[in-house]
Amino acid sequence: MTTRCDGVRAGFSLRCHGTLYRCLSCGAEGCAQTKPASCSHQRFDVSGRCTQCAAVGKREMLAPQTVGLFSTLMQDPP
Ligand SMILES: [Zn+2]
Ligand SMILES: [Zn+2]
Repeated sequence: MTTRCDGVRAGFSLRCHGTLYRCLSCGAEGCAQTKPASCSHQRFDVSGRCTQCAAVGKREMLAPQTVGLFSTLMQDPP
């Protein structure tokens, strides 16, 4: 299971490699980007809103190998 986004950045022929999140509301998976449609696999906008079901702040990080390192960063901003 990959924990890095394999989408392609808009405007670049580069792999995204962004952190993947899963929506706790609808189950959709994808990365978070600061601008809309930045990645072919984008699922969350800068506010943490799911682009599929529009739930806000309902996401979990899909990066088990980094959970220990970043456990203090798991909380979404208010
Ligand atoms: Zn991505
Ligand atoms: Zn959703």
